Amino acid sequence: MKNTYPIVEIFGPVVQGEGELAGLPTIFVRLGGCDYRCTQCDTMYAVDTARYKHQWQKLTAAEITNTVLALADKGMGQNRPINVTFSGGNPALFDLVELIDTLRAAPRKFTLSMETQGSVYPEWAALLDHICVSPKGPSMGYDMKAINLDVLGHYCSLWEHGVVPVYFKFVIGNRADLALYLSLEDFLSDVPIYFQPVNTQLYSEEVDLNILRQQYSDLVDLTLSSELYHVTVLPQLHVWASGSNGRGI
Ligand code: SF4
Repeated sequence: MKNTYPIVEIFGPVVQGEGELAGLPTIFVRLGGCDYRCTQCDTMYAVDTARYKHQWQKLTAAEITNTVLALADKGMGQNRPINVTFSGGNPALFDLVELIDTLRAAPRKFTLSMETQGSVYPEWAALLDHICVSPKGPSMGYDMKAINLDVLGHYCSLWEHGVVPVYFKFVIGNRADLALYLSLEDFLSDVPIYFQPVNTQLYSEEVDLNILRQQYSDLVDLTLSSELYHVTVLPQLHVWASGSNGRGI
């Protein structure tokens, strides 16, 4: 019996909307299941098993790889590399070794990335090309008690030893979120840090761009007034560009 993975959606190429790879064409492989229940989660359809699990598909590594290959192939015969991001939910909960190996063996070259909230460190993380760790703070319903420093330390160590480029992204919706980041600042040392405004328009398909602009501007002001000059402040580029909180953007 072949391994299968709970797949919520596979879509792209679209541009990555967040963090260090913002603007980079990417194919997303979204896995269903998460050990958190964030109050401002924008992908509850990949978290809430009671409501959505029946919509997820169990796919093998080969089936996922074939879907990714088909999405990347625009019929130009160029076969250029493209980034593939494992997202969720929390993809770190699963054993992705077979999927990584199958994607690596594919006829098109893929760079492989993961987005996780950092509750779990899987050994296969060292096989990736890029990792975004996004610890959740008070705006999401979590505080320092939920932070596992041993786990975050493993991710930091990948970056410190040059094994995998890792960056940390914090969603900052208020001063309590900032305080959580500040209490981790020394621990995270020189790992690249990104701030992103909290998305407060989750339940409207169409977003008000004026609200997004104001939230971004407020976060820039907060970052600068806190003298956090090493932090990169980015909006959710895909939401700005599409004006939507919809799926598959
Ligand atoms: S960790 Fe991410 S996917 Fe999981 S509930 Fe929180 S925001 Fe949603």
